[in-house]
Amino acid sequence: MANADYILFERPAEHIARIVLNRPEARNAQDTRFLYELNDAYERAAQDESVKVIITAANGPHFSSGHDLRERDHLETQDRYKPVTGATGYRRPGAEGRMAREEELYTGFCERWRNIPKPTIAAVQGKCVAGGLMLAWPSDIIIAADDAVFEDVTLMLGIPGVELFAHPWELGPRKAKEMLFAGAQIGAEEARQMGMVNRVVPRANLESATLELAQQIALRPSFALRLAKLAVNNTQDAQGRPAALTAAFAMHHIGHSHCMEVFGLPVDPSGVHKGVSATYKAGDEPWRQKAKA
Ligand code: ZN
Repeated sequence: MANADYILFERPAEHIARIVLNRPEARNAQDTRFLYELNDAYERAAQDESVKVIITAANGPHFSSGHDLRERDHLETQDRYKPVTGATGYRRPGAEGRMAREEELYTGFCERWRNIPKPTIAAVQGKCVAGGLMLAWPSDIIIAADDAVFEDVTLMLGIPGVELFAHPWELGPRKAKEMLFAGAQIGAEEARQMGMVNRVVPRANLESATLELAQQIALRPSFALRLAKLAVNNTQDAQGRPAALTAAFAMHHIGHSHCMEVFGLPVDPSGVHKGVSATYKAGDEPWRQKAKA
């Protein structure tokens, strides 16, 4: 890619890879290129036998503001990348194309990252909003800076929640509902108490605390780590996680389709400058491009 890397790949210590979200000027908003480069970095870390533990971190004051709603040429960009998850038909009209794209970039990528057969740790500071949750939740362990705030603002846009509907699994059903219904902001300490976050550390210690834990984990046998990860993930899967995610993803697309019928846009535009205004500035409404929706 010609421009500055959206994603950095670092080796801060033996056996450790650190993948850094590096679009701080856009609050690490995720566009198509950003997500493919992030997926490439995970693939690289997964395939590299010298890597035992993968850290995901972010440059700048915020972990991620979510999807880049200013992206205007997403289909042209997507044409440059080979589909990773087997999804196809991005240019098909209606729900067909939209669902295919979101299966690839969102739920498909997230579940691949969740199932990488190596321990993964996310280091989260500042805002982690909507699609930002989908970059933190796939990690096995989350370490939060004391200024971290987790929030899903998408319900205001007429959508039940972000594409990876892991809220009930991450927060339990009641807090998940509060987060969704009220747009509740979950602070780092509250997230820790609910089990969504493992540890809370001062902002200045986030990098060192994350690396220290990664190095501690890297002392363990890699195959045992892989088996332990599989055992925990399989426990959630046996509890119905994949079926629940699939059903919620379908509801997400009913939300998009309803908005298209009513507003001619995949989201409810009336929500943009209400609860969402804290996150998205006026003028950031590229979903108004009906032709590309
Ligand atoms: Zn969507």
